[in-house]
Amino acid sequence: MEFAKLTIRAALEGLRKRTLSAVELAQAVVGAVEACNSTLGAYLWFDREAVLKEAAAADEARAAGSDLPLLGIPLALKDNICVAGEPCGCASRMLEGFIAPYDSTVAERLRGAGAILAGRTNMDEFALGTSTESSAVQLTRNPAAGDYVPGGSSGGSAAAVAGGLALAALGSDTGGSVRQPASHCGCVGVKPGYGRISRFGVVACASSFDQVGVLTKSVADAALLVNIMAGFDPRDATTLMVKPAAWDGSSDLHGMRLGLPMEYFVDWVEPEVKSAALAAAERCRELGAEVIEVSLPHADYGPAAYCVLAAAELSTNMARFDGVRYGERAAGVKRIEGLYGESRGAGLGSEVKRRILFGTHMLSGANYERYFMQAQRVRALVGDDFSKAFECCDALLTPVVPAAARKLGESDGSPVEAYRNDSFVVGVNLAGVGALTVPYGTTAAGLPVGVQVIAPTLQESRLYRVASALEAMIGGGR
Ligand code: GLN
Repeated sequence: MEFAKLTIRAALEGLRKRTLSAVELAQAVVGAVEACNSTLGAYLWFDREAVLKEAAAADEARAAGSDLPLLGIPLALKDNICVAGEPCGCASRMLEGFIAPYDSTVAERLRGAGAILAGRTNMDEFALGTSTESSAVQLTRNPAAGDYVPGGSSGGSAAAVAGGLALAALGSDTGGSVRQPASHCGCVGVKPGYGRISRFGVVACASSFDQVGVLTKSVADAALLVNIMAGFDPRDATTLMVKPAAWDGSSDLHGMRLGLPMEYFVDWVEPEVKSAALAAAERCRELGAEVIEVSLPHADYGPAAYCVLAAAELSTNMARFDGVRYGERAAGVKRIEGLYGESRGAGLGSEVKRRILFGTHMLSGANYERYFMQAQRVRALVGDDFSKAFECCDALLTPVVPAAARKLGESDGSPVEAYRNDSFVVGVNLAGVGALTVPYGTTAAGLPVGVQVIAPTLQESRLYRVASALEAMIGGGR
């Protein structure tokens, strides 16, 4: 099979049967990166020699009898996930040249499973954005249509996977940053429930929302990676003690009840996007699921609450990038206040500054009670909405985004427009539940459209069950 379509599962089968070697696999990745990355801009950094060397070691280990679950599988990582000795710059000038001094837990677990951590992918600066255009380093193009955005903030990871430059990639999802680019580029994107995967060694965006997620070519690949990374980590007190039950591979929808939250099927959703989600629901019904309408009554307030809370958390997390503890230091400044101001002024892009200012304002004086605490109350209500919905259905099926990818540079620059585009993804992060994007067709213009499946935190296998039934429908998932 050509590398662009190769899944982890198929690659592992080849490796185990010795019809494929890890070196051949690595050469295919290297070849694809060398041929396409200068156009696509998916990777920020890729160490060709290291990948080939690790692949040779993986082949030797296999010959010596090792059969680690990801032995010889190259994976791309978003630029906010630390791998010891590699750059980790969050696509920001602030962290230019920063080399991670230690491994994140996810890097450690993946490498422990035999994976080759191959390269860093582009992103919106510090994971803030929906198009990857706020990267301070380079532009990333949508592999399906080169003059369109790949989505964001994990746009480099989505473009690498969908563009055939990676078998799979890691992203992070604070408010949709895995699911939204997966939808725009046409790959699977999973954000597990909050606490499933350790955040240790992942640059914090908004800590009570952040989860590492995966972008893959199939649902089975996503389930495999999530299960390897998930589980308690003493270095992240928010990780759950319970290991997810391994998904049994079933896509049988008989006896399953799926809810369509009516607040996500409103009239400002593009008709082609809405009809993809409705067609997916219809397909699930044909496959044996019962499909009902449900309500998430506070859905409209979710995006505003997300804006306040995520910015507030971000503003405190960003305090460490001051040119002293972390970050590029402005030269020739004598006074400490000036040093902070100059370093942050020069090192951070406008979206990051906007959020720091907004978040700080939300936490200042009376605003703390007026906005921050009010948003916390809304967050609880949004969480209750999901809990109530899950009392009458097993999973929810929704559009991921109100519209397919837009053209590069076409935004009017209004943050409100960008935040509105997050309307169907941020509720999941407010509630801490698990969700995924599965590709479900394209628009007439050929742009990918995904649908979102949402399930309670400890029930990720329901996500995989529904999504694998849908991906089989469109010929994916091998
Ligand atoms: N679009 C979201 C935002 O800009 C993405 C955040 C994220 O998931 N990292 O806040």
